[in-house]
Amino acid sequence: AKSRGRNMLCFFDLGMQAAATARSALEADIRAGLQRDEFLLHYQRVVDADGAMLGAEALVRWRHSERGMVPPGEFIAVAEQTGLILPLGRRVLREACQQLAQWAREPACAHWTLSVNVSAQEFRHPGFVQQVLDVIAETQADPRRLKLELTESLLLHDVEDTIARMRMLRARGVGLSLDDFGTGYSSLSYLKRLPLSQLKIDQSFVRDVLTDPSDAAIACTVVALANSLGLDVVAEGVESDGQRDFLLRNGCRRFQGYLFGRPGPASALRAADTEPPSR
Ligand code: C2E
Ligand code: CA
Ligand code: CA
Ligand code: CA
Repeated sequence: AKSRGRNMLCFFDLGMQAAATARSALEADIRAGLQRDEFLLHYQRVVDADGAMLGAEALVRWRHSERGMVPPGEFIAVAEQTGLILPLGRRVLREACQQLAQWAREPACAHWTLSVNVSAQEFRHPGFVQQVLDVIAETQADPRRLKLELTESLLLHDVEDTIARMRMLRARGVGLSLDDFGTGYSSLSYLKRLPLSQLKIDQSFVRDVLTDPSDAAIACTVVALANSLGLDVVAEGVESDGQRDFLLRNGCRRFQGYLFGRPGPASALRAADTEPPSR
């Protein structure tokens, strides 16, 4: 048993070593990708009860020279672990604000809002608030049309500092949305204290909302909670009419998901808006 234990330990070490090697290869690759400007944004529409466009969420993509279009699930975690999320996040925010300012110049899109995902590591960085304000000033984006999507992991660290930063952004008109709501650590007492403007119902609750009574109960509770706290609420991951109709009947008025459109380049978003989504 003892020698087997030693072998297992050895095997485990090799596995860890392989993982660390893969991770540092990816880190170097992300760094090179940043230098080569290979990161871009796709946009997914957010619609109202009638399917009309309210705005979009910006989702980062990596146009990799060998691997093609790489989704964020394959690099965001390593970017967060290595600090590369900071330069990456700056690019994302700048491109998003440039897009927002562009829409503001076109009458058909002038009212659209744009949501940008912000990792906890970015939000906690000392220069973050000033960086957001600088990018807004530089791009002339309307801060009231910008929403930052934050996650509950922010609450694992200094909550007072987080709230202070949130207040500074809200004071300038920037919207703050709590993403993936219900999947994290937040207690309801925090929710009361955070200066949020929106909650997003996580897609894990939307997926089986018609068949799983617990998911339905959670989704409905989040909608009711948001409505009674005076927050907007968006259901994400809506793929079917049935899901949309159920959420609508239960007071949700904002939707995002493949039913309304997949993430794509900004040009596709605008083109698709000339025709209402078919249901
Ligand atoms: P998220 O913020 O929860 O974004 C929603 C994800 O669900 C997106 O995946 C989107 O493409 C996908 N999605 C949208 N509608 C549907 C649907 O109807 N069904 C299903 N099954 N999926 C749907 P994506 O683009 O791969 O992004 C994954 C995650 O990566 C995001 O989850 C977000 O946490 C992170 N992420 C994306 N862009 C950024 C970014 O610019 N910065 C940071 N920090 N994180 C980002
Ligand atoms: Ca999001
Ligand atoms: Ca989400
Ligand atoms: Ca998510």
